[in-house]
Amino acid sequence: MAAQALASAAFEEGGYAVAFPFFGSERRGAPVLAFTRIDKNPIRVKTQVYEPDCIVVLDEGLIEQIDVTVGLKKDGMAIVNTAKRPEEIDLGMDLKVATVDATTVALEILKRPVTNSAILGAIAKASDAVSIEGIEKGIISIFGGRLGEKVGLINAKAARAAYDQTVIGQSKGKIKKKGVEKWMPTVQEMLPGAAIGEQDTPFGKVGMGSMVENKTGSWKVFQPKYDKEKCTMCLTCWWACPEGCIYRTKDKLEFDMSYCKGCGICANECPVDAIAMGRGE
Ligand code: SF4
Ligand code: SF4
Repeated sequence: MAAQALASAAFEEGGYAVAFPFFGSERRGAPVLAFTRIDKNPIRVKTQVYEPDCIVVLDEGLIEQIDVTVGLKKDGMAIVNTAKRPEEIDLGMDLKVATVDATTVALEILKRPVTNSAILGAIAKASDAVSIEGIEKGIISIFGGRLGEKVGLINAKAARAAYDQTVIGQSKGKIKKKGVEKWMPTVQEMLPGAAIGEQDTPFGKVGMGSMVENKTGSWKVFQPKYDKEKCTMCLTCWWACPEGCIYRTKDKLEFDMSYCKGCGICANECPVDAIAMGRGE
């Protein structure tokens, strides 16, 4: 919800934003990750954030268990929920750090140790991504929308209090970090054609080839209308098509209508509007 409220704040302020969680063990108290991507321009990357500009640590106990800075850019920053000052935090790299005792703020205002709204105030204070007014609106929209207006307002109050108490400083990285391998390449790093091919498994066909058996073309009402003159061959649509029915020829694309299910994702993702969805002839 905090990631969504942050995205909502950025959106309210005229930007583009995407937020999504990543759950491991889905139980209360288990470590979870959530990502927010904010930009002035439309966001076409759909992956997790592997190289963040900013990390936000809601539980400082995690710092001893895992390397929370994996992928963090050298000029990035960390926001930590702690009673310590920034210079007392050691994340294994020299870093701009903002600290706030969000747990105490939450206990005082919400009467519960739920820190996700308070920490948003620290984000507004420490980064230039969003203003505190935007955060308050985002919280009222997301928290209030799900849990009621009263809950939205009190969580906005917690964010404002945390904003006032956030301290920004510099930390020195003294502990030695364990190197952590990235577990997956990003879309930008993968070569076109690197997706797995057809494979027979005990559960049937998987991979690109599995689509051959399901002629999904009969589902569609609308189909993609492709404008070769506008197309820059960036292949965003090729990546995005869930049916793998866009083919590259020497200088243009072709769409296999036996499999195109008319979802419109290709048209939505094309950055130059070279694809429009329309009724078939
Ligand atoms: S409409 Fe959907 S299925 Fe058809 S080509 Fe575009 S992305 Fe692929
Ligand atoms: S996304 Fe648009 S510009 Fe890029 S290859 Fe597809 S049709 Fe062409």
